[in-house]
Amino acid sequence: MTSTQAPPEVRRVATVDEAVALLAELGPDAAPLAGATWVMRAGLRGEPVARTGVALDRIAELRGIGGDGPVTVGAMTTHAALADRPAPPALAALRQAAAMSAFPQVRNVATVGGNLGARGFAEADLVPALLALDARVRLAAAGGRAETDLASWLAGRATRPAGELITGVELDAPAAQRSGYARLTVRGGGEYAIASVALAVELSDGVVTAARVALGSVEPVACRSPEAEEGLVGGPLDAGRARAAGAAAAAACRPREGLDAPGWYRTAVLPALFERAAARAAGAGRTEES
Ligand SMILES: Cc1cc2nc3c(=O)[nH]c(=O)nc-3n(C[C@H](O)[C@H](O)[C@H](O)COP(=O)(O)OP(=O)(O)OC[C@H]3O[C@@H](n4cnc5c(N)ncnc54)[C@H](O)[C@@H]3O)c2cc1C
Repeated sequence: MTSTQAPPEVRRVATVDEAVALLAELGPDAAPLAGATWVMRAGLRGEPVARTGVALDRIAELRGIGGDGPVTVGAMTTHAALADRPAPPALAALRQAAAMSAFPQVRNVATVGGNLGARGFAEADLVPALLALDARVRLAAAGGRAETDLASWLAGRATRPAGELITGVELDAPAAQRSGYARLTVRGGGEYAIASVALAVELSDGVVTAARVALGSVEPVACRSPEAEEGLVGGPLDAGRARAAGAAAAAACRPREGLDAPGWYRTAVLPALFERAAARAAGAGRTEES
């Protein structure tokens, strides 16, 4: 990718095939351009900007939420669209994460694909929610289409081939699943999260039979917490067990240092965030940030 302080040239395409063909032709000098809310601050972060942005906004295939059975969310679906649309309880964490992220002006244009594609962005809100919901990432490149689980995709994100396009994510929404999201900021809404927690549990007669937990903004990349997941299974989703799971997660992770918060603080707040996320998953909590 070529470094330049000038705005990128924007090339508009109408289909996924056109986008991947153009990205393949231009090589590392080009990159997908979605809502541009991350890209526009690249210069401030001292990051290079691709010379050409391949704008995805006219590609109808990349928009919308739907599907019978698995739910598909197009890569150009905005945070606002996710936040505004009622979600089944199984997928509530994604709706809550979208609603709590950023500001209305940003949420109106920021997209799922951009949240996943923003490298070096530990604070991304949709990523931990999608991890806890076991999302599969749909991809397109000049060589064809593919699908992979989000954890594997994140592990290799830094070395993904240039020209690869995220077309969307796919999520299962089992009837027995409940999910919730909680995040902490210093002053209130509109800021990046110091730490965030997404959890998805399967319940049978009030007992957690399976759990997936993801932490955002704590380590450099959002990650699952096997320790917390183990701690949640086998009992009710109550405040005490949620806090204990949060403590187990805190003890096991390696938090990042930052100007917004030291590493120890990111882990110290996890038990409280687990309690809030669990309350939201159980339907007892508020969906607004607190
Ligand atoms: C004031 C402000 C506040 C913010 N607050 C938050 C917040 O609280 N929480 C949060 O999560 N984010 C926040 N953000 C960051 C940003 O809005 C999100 O990360 C957003 O999801 C990025 O989406 P985008 O469509 O704007 O991506 P873009 O900026 O267009 O792209 C981001 C990266 O992803 C790549 N990309 C985009 N789409 C695709 C695709 N389909 N396939 C492959 N690569 C792709 C681009 O090439 C680029 O590298 C904030 C931004 C601003 C400006």
